[in-house]
Amino acid sequence: MPEPLAQSPNFPRLLGSYGGDTPGPLVIGIGGMHGNEPAGVFALQQVLHSLHARRLPFRGKLLAFTGNRAALARDCRYIDEDFNRLWGPEHLEGIGKRCTEPTSEEQEQRELLAAIETALAQRKGPAVFLDLHTTSAEGQPFVVIGDSLPNRRFAFGLQAPVILGLEEQLEGTLLNYLSEQGHVVIGFEGGQHASPSAVQNHIAAIWSVLTTAGCLRSQNAPEKTLPEPPVYPVLEIRYHHLIQAGDDFAMEPGFTNFQPVRRGQLLARDRHGQIRAQESGQILMPLYQGQGADGFFLVRTVRQFWLRLAVWLRHLRLERLLPLLPGVRRHPDQATTLIVEPRIARWFVMEIFHLLGFRKKRPHAGKLLVSRRWHEPGVFEDGEPNP
Ligand SMILES: [Zn+2]
Repeated sequence: MPEPLAQSPNFPRLLGSYGGDTPGPLVIGIGGMHGNEPAGVFALQQVLHSLHARRLPFRGKLLAFTGNRAALARDCRYIDEDFNRLWGPEHLEGIGKRCTEPTSEEQEQRELLAAIETALAQRKGPAVFLDLHTTSAEGQPFVVIGDSLPNRRFAFGLQAPVILGLEEQLEGTLLNYLSEQGHVVIGFEGGQHASPSAVQNHIAAIWSVLTTAGCLRSQNAPEKTLPEPPVYPVLEIRYHHLIQAGDDFAMEPGFTNFQPVRRGQLLARDRHGQIRAQESGQILMPLYQGQGADGFFLVRTVRQFWLRLAVWLRHLRLERLLPLLPGVRRHPDQATTLIVEPRIARWFVMEIFHLLGFRKKRPHAGKLLVSRRWHEPGVFEDGEPNP
């Protein structure tokens, strides 16, 4: 592996910590899972500095880690492979068992995983993860969550649009891995990689999460929120353009996050020709950098009615009735997973599973698997006051 460039910052794995003397939530902030996205690292450093300088009273503990240190040192997305696609079960089970030389990212993963597991083993309360990213395109910040009620509670405090459904499109993300362990996990995209506002947006996001978690009193958070909100929309992923090797994908210039597009509009080109919008909506994360396999996403606003209906249905625990339906049965080994016959899935639309808090997993042996998002019992239930 080449040495990092001399002039690049060499960030430690542990950026710092605060608190830890009292029981309470463990908040873990992670910056730089992608090495060309240092804004989250800078923001974590600034919040830690501010906490120590002001000696703010604090419940629980804040820990801040770097993601891909080697890529951060070289200001590139990754060295050998995308660090935020390595957290699927097949890959994690292979750690230490493969005969091949580990990639740069596999070495990063061993370290980061060990640091996270040590922190989780020593915690004195529920864990909340904040995964800080930036985008190659310009545009306002946004939040990415798996749609559970505790995740919603943190996301709605962040004063930015909330994206649902990305977890079904991207396999092997750190967010998916930690969510499946039952933790609250918030992904935050702070703005364009190099924009000064991205660091400020991340700082605001960190204060907001610390406040929502109950670590800090809101009056003590100096930069609690982004500019005063209207109510920000919740949007769902409708389309994902995945780039294959050798596609020569090139986005048309000038698209920004959340820019409205019409069905049929020219969005990008590759060696197969023009790529046009499959449906009308808003564009998200159009790719304007060399590395990365996600060309762009199309999103659409979810109406408030459906969001409220989901809260109501989940409080009623209606998901318990799903295995009574023909063609739906429980997974023999996994308590939160259902096996759905494909013919049922055609009419029994995925939206119903989404409403009840399930996510689609990869098909297995011709069957659709859906898995209910779960959290450690009693953790940050929707509507409860801070613990
Ligand atoms: Zn990223």
